[in-house]
Amino acid sequence: MKFPEVRLQRLKKNENFRSLFAEVRLDSRDFVAPLFVKEGIEHPEAISTMPDIFRHSLHSILDEVGEIAASGISTILLFGIPKNKDHEGSASYDSEGIVQKAIRLIKRDFPEISIIADCCLCDYTTHGHCGIMEQGCLKNDQTLKILQKVALSYAEAGVDIIAPSGSMDGMVGAIRKALDEHRHYLMPIMSYAIKYASCFYGPFREAGGIGTLTGNRRHHQMQPSQRREAVREVQLDIAEGADIVMVKPGMPYLDIIRDIREQFSLPIATYQVSGEYAMLKVGAKAHLFDEVSAFHESFISFKRAGADIIISYYAKEMANFLNKRS
Ligand SMILES: [Zn+2]
Repeated sequence: MKFPEVRLQRLKKNENFRSLFAEVRLDSRDFVAPLFVKEGIEHPEAISTMPDIFRHSLHSILDEVGEIAASGISTILLFGIPKNKDHEGSASYDSEGIVQKAIRLIKRDFPEISIIADCCLCDYTTHGHCGIMEQGCLKNDQTLKILQKVALSYAEAGVDIIAPSGSMDGMVGAIRKALDEHRHYLMPIMSYAIKYASCFYGPFREAGGIGTLTGNRRHHQMQPSQRREAVREVQLDIAEGADIVMVKPGMPYLDIIRDIREQFSLPIATYQVSGEYAMLKVGAKAHLFDEVSAFHESFISFKRAGADIIISYYAKEMANFLNKRS
């Protein structure tokens, strides 16, 4: 059978049909909203590189979580910006650290919201690298010991999921071991298993107050050319105990999401990173395209590729858009 007996226009001739035959659709319960919380500020600070995104105070983050909860999103991802940084990022595992405090306050006011906490040192070290540095070299195994302390401090504060993002070899296994030794058997780990060394992280550096980095992260993050290596990263993280794996960034790596979807059965998250967000926001502000349509199309592409969970700075706005439409 072929044209004229077959006409693909039959099933898309009106809005009802287009909706009825949609292969994937968006649901705000799959969205995760990332949030920045900064120590020692009274009022939210605008992030110049990320339109409409703020670094929150311990007070303003509660208002923001309230708005996120009202939009129908049930999960947030927390990043902390400490007042004091040092060589090994010791503020990251302080029980009175900014993330630990934020976890306790959010849980007090919004017990129904799940909190994922980013587990890395780059926001906490003076040099801005994700681990301990010695003579310009990243010390992978020494860093694991610090990450164990960070994970335990989050667990004790009441976090729901721990998300190691530093691309250290063995980080998932080290964190799993520390959690289990302290009886946090049911604490899930969402691994940033597939994290490419990407220029699209640029705007985040301003958000996290990281500044200019001496050197780069290409020794431990993946180079964009790698497809088979992504499978190895996931295999290793599953063997170490990852419960959820992430592909980051999202839009330039949809083929990788699809590969992982076809080869593994655990949940996949994808992170629409700061540069992807800023690109669409700035494009829409320049009237190159409609903002919500651009983000909607990008979210749909994540679902179509096979992602279960979408982490995006646009999550709340998308959820509100979906609510208005239905
Ligand atoms: Zn990092």
